[in-house]
Amino acid sequence: MKAAAFAYARATSVSNALELLGAHGDRAKVLSGGQSLMPAMNLRLISPELIVDIGAIGELRGIAVTGELLRIGALMRHVDLLRSPEIAAHAPLLTEAIAHIAHPAIRNRGTIGGSLAHADPASELPACMLALDATIIIRGEGGERRVAAADFFTGIYETALSASELLVAIELPVARKNSVHFFHEFARRHGDYAMAGLAAQAIVEGDAFSDLRLAYFGVGDRPVLAKVAGALVKTAVTPATLAAASVALGAELDPHDDQQASASMRRHLARVLLARCISALLHPDLDAGGIV
Ligand SMILES: Cc1cc2nc3c(=O)[nH]c(=O)nc-3n(C[C@H](O)[C@H](O)[C@H](O)COP(=O)(O)OP(=O)(O)OC[C@H]3O[C@@H](n4cnc5c(N)ncnc54)[C@H](O)[C@@H]3O)c2cc1C
Repeated sequence: MKAAAFAYARATSVSNALELLGAHGDRAKVLSGGQSLMPAMNLRLISPELIVDIGAIGELRGIAVTGELLRIGALMRHVDLLRSPEIAAHAPLLTEAIAHIAHPAIRNRGTIGGSLAHADPASELPACMLALDATIIIRGEGGERRVAAADFFTGIYETALSASELLVAIELPVARKNSVHFFHEFARRHGDYAMAGLAAQAIVEGDAFSDLRLAYFGVGDRPVLAKVAGALVKTAVTPATLAAASVALGAELDPHDDQQASASMRRHLARVLLARCISALLHPDLDAGGIV
């Protein structure tokens, strides 16, 4: 199937894109890498009247470290992040996660801004933003606003962005001393969207976590920052505490059934990921009551 007829405008700057979006409201759609937008249009799931192509806006590109902050422009493609020495040094969780996104052809075009704005609950990058405590920078005709990643994702394909706003950049705190990370996902095939996945960032001091952020994806209508992490911080993690956390995690998550996996299978996979994460980051031989 082909997309319904639409008008096309190539924005020359952020303010030009905002003028176009402001004038057309929800009849317009931003085009970034096109890897989610074009399939949706071709399947006629959406039929915008106007496409606002932001691909030529230079100010939306770039990766920069300033003091304790890493700033990533919305137009940076998955492949740019995968190859970036700044990302590898200051947010290595992202380097690891991006290798799991789709296939090279899609990573060559898809962008971080597009992935976050699209907000697929099974996507890797939204969960990484929660794990890394990112701030999403949004520009509208009234100026700039900054939204914590934890408040940005509001439902399946839903975010805090309005139709007349543009996601312009992401800011992340650079990885601190003693910072460690974990990334793993279960997918039918490498490159498929995950049935369940976990992106985690932690600070380890001695034998304990002083900070632990567990961001799950594929197990709810949006990425989930698991509250159960709090029970594993500043305490000795034993098989008993891990087993209790695993039970609490199962109660906290609200996964869905679909043709890929049942809700109970997703809940089980999430618990397996918890055990593997804690074992990898803290105790290689921790036994979580048979969940491995
Ligand atoms: C076969 C296939 C497999 C895939 N597998 C995976 C996978 O395993 N994991 C994964 O995470 N993704 C996967 N993707 C999606 C891919 O990562 C996309 O690149 C990404 O979701 C969207 O990025 P994009 O730049 O292509 O955005 P686009 O498709 O251009 O836009 C997506 C949406 O975001 C909006 N938008 C884009 N940029 C902005 C902005 N700056 N401000 C406001 N709104 C904006 C658009 O209007 C649109 O609604 C897959 C895609 C395909 C086709």
